[in-house]
Amino acid sequence: MTSPLVVAIDGPSGSGKSSTSRGVADRLGLAYLDTGAMYRAMTWALLQHGVDLDDPDAVAAAADEVTLVSGTDPLEPTIHADGVDVAEPIRSDEVTGSVSLVAAVPHVRELLVALQREVIAGSPGIVVEGRDIGSVVVPDARVKIYLVADPAARAARRAAENGGADTAATEQALAARDRIDSTRAVSPLVQSEGAVVVDGTHLTLDEVIDAIVRIVDAAS
Ligand code: C5P
Repeated sequence: MTSPLVVAIDGPSGSGKSSTSRGVADRLGLAYLDTGAMYRAMTWALLQHGVDLDDPDAVAAAADEVTLVSGTDPLEPTIHADGVDVAEPIRSDEVTGSVSLVAAVPHVRELLVALQREVIAGSPGIVVEGRDIGSVVVPDARVKIYLVADPAARAARRAAENGGADTAATEQALAARDRIDSTRAVSPLVQSEGAVVVDGTHLTLDEVIDAIVRIVDAAS
């Protein structure tokens, strides 16, 4: 029997991972897990509790008390923290500006990676997006994609999503988050062994989805 299909999609902020991953899951009839939303929801909950995010011990202790639940329908993914629907607040500037700090705390990663593996194990087939999916969460995933786009394209896309925000400021904010995510001691953002690089800079969303679906079909 072949193992359940796991498609790991990693890459830097703003590379189009979420739209792409949801599109691939929808096309292939697979579930979808947004692990970035889990780190964001954890950050939201810790901010609600007034935890000092510069204190890794306080973050680790408080993280044990937070309950996260992810819904895996690619057309309607959901995320709840302590029973609250946090889909909207986790996209706030406050959460976006703090999430990399929380994600760098080893105990937070232990907790969330365990949760991610539970969701993946309970699914017959799933697309999982994040930063460490191919390297740490599911190193034996049948398909590993490393999705990139050049910084200006990523900033333009993210600024447009944010209702026409300043592109230069957005590019700086993305670069700052990538720097923390790529240089942290535990599970930094890396192109994992065996990952296929897909560069979406000059492709439409549909073209990126097509390219990944072809890679998945070839691996099945
Ligand atoms: O993908 P998204 O931008 O929503 O991720 C938010 C943050 O969560 C990232 O900047 C990173 O710090 C963290 N993250 C992570 N590992 C993952 C997914 C996200 O550290 N697998």
